[in-house]
Amino acid sequence: MTDAPSIFWFRRDLRLTDNPALLAAIDDGVSSQVLPLFIVDPNLVSGAGLPRLGYLAQSLRALDESLGGNLHVIAGEPRKVLSQIVKAYDTTEVHVTGDFAPFGSARDADVEASGLKLIRTGSPYAISPGRVRKNDGTNYRVFTPFYNAWFQHSWRGPVGVAEANWIKPTKSERHFPKFIDDRLTPNVAGELAASQRFQRFLDGSIDRYHEHRDRPDLPGTSRLSANLRWGEIHPRTVLAPLNSSQGHTVFRKEIAWREFYADVLHHYPLTSREYYKPQFATMRYDEPGPKFDAWRSGVTGYPLVDAGMRQLIAEGWMHNRVRMVVASFLIKDLHIEWQFGARHFMKYLIDGDMASNSHGWQWVAGCGTDASPYYRIFNPVEQGKRFDPDGDYVRKYIPELRHIKGGAVHEPWLLAHDATSGYPTPIVDHSVERRESLGRLAEIK
Ligand SMILES: Cc1cc2nc3c(=O)[nH]c(=O)nc-3n(C[C@H](O)[C@H](O)[C@H](O)COP(=O)(O)OP(=O)(O)OC[C@H]3O[C@@H](n4cnc5c(N)ncnc54)[C@H](O)[C@@H]3O)c2cc1C
Repeated sequence: MTDAPSIFWFRRDLRLTDNPALLAAIDDGVSSQVLPLFIVDPNLVSGAGLPRLGYLAQSLRALDESLGGNLHVIAGEPRKVLSQIVKAYDTTEVHVTGDFAPFGSARDADVEASGLKLIRTGSPYAISPGRVRKNDGTNYRVFTPFYNAWFQHSWRGPVGVAEANWIKPTKSERHFPKFIDDRLTPNVAGELAASQRFQRFLDGSIDRYHEHRDRPDLPGTSRLSANLRWGEIHPRTVLAPLNSSQGHTVFRKEIAWREFYADVLHHYPLTSREYYKPQFATMRYDEPGPKFDAWRSGVTGYPLVDAGMRQLIAEGWMHNRVRMVVASFLIKDLHIEWQFGARHFMKYLIDGDMASNSHGWQWVAGCGTDASPYYRIFNPVEQGKRFDPDGDYVRKYIPELRHIKGGAVHEPWLLAHDATSGYPTPIVDHSVERRESLGRLAEIK
């Protein structure tokens, strides 16, 4: 214990419950005094879209409320902000949860280069990236063996809620970001919202998760991704009540995909932007142009693709099945490199996470670790008919097609032209582009 209060720097752990790093800070501060701090880093907010920023603003408000209005919110470069704070409180140490992603690690290295010590406890994962290894000490590149080793490795149970003597902020330390996003339903962000959502999922959809998780028209998944991204709930808390039933087991595996991709990115940090399988960088791709714009705006003429892209802009979220379909469409129907799509996703997704996003894209593009083979090309119409059989998901996001009943909504071109109310005709012919894609694949084999 020092004779100064502890400084706790919140980053991807915006919660008081099951936050081991915060408990370590409390133990360390004289009379359990802790200065809770969030830094609005210009690098974090520049380039982020409204849903994402709106989510962060709401999450910070929720955190502040649980801290009794004592969250210090300061805008600026972390290195500069922290050096002023530690000077004012006559300390050289700052408590944090470890950050393993390339941006976070570089930022932390920069802070430490200024002479400040970061005391790291825990991580945003059940098992920190880099810990699950094969017997020969190397890392896993394939999910199933990773999952088995990860599950066997096990993890600690959740810890309790943090209570401390929070240091009161001054007026100048209350620079809450003013990102307004009317599209965000009130109280979706924050620790309380996260635990309530998880409880609802445990009481309801989890038992049929294995059957419904691919259906964007049903509330079959947890929708915890943004809560996990911002650390409003820790994966250990989520894993703790799971049993060995089918729904629970499949759900645990999805949590493990998040851990797997964090592990892969930790070992291959350049794969946030570069091809994990470098031969795919030599493939012929098209420059993003008007077709890319149509994809971004949700006017490709393929209803499932357009519904997903419109949901992304409207809500900052998209169902996993639809993420796969829109990603496949961009790469294999429009022949545009995955990085363009990944950047667009990161701008809008409220759960935007470098590891899951880049590797989710690389999985679809066939160039990632344990990826879907490139020749597996999603047919956007068949995917729609199979996973949104009555067309409810499409109708929700495409008002122009709301008058079309049932699954027919996935093929509006089969109806009389004026029945589609101005909805565009397909910008490409899927069967032609599929052949084109396979031809380009053959060139690099
Ligand atoms: C192209 C593409 C981009 C993606 N980008 C992101 C991203 O930026 N951030 C993100 O959190 N997820 C991303 N995913 C994974 C997945 O789509 C979302 O995690 C999921 O849709 C979130 O919904 P949910 O919380 O209801 O998931 P659930 O089905 O309830 O799953 C529970 C949790 O497991 C994790 N998870 C589930 N599926 C995956 C997966 N395939 N990969 C990694 N973690 C997973 C998430 O943390 C999720 O919240 C991406 C997938 C694809 C195909």
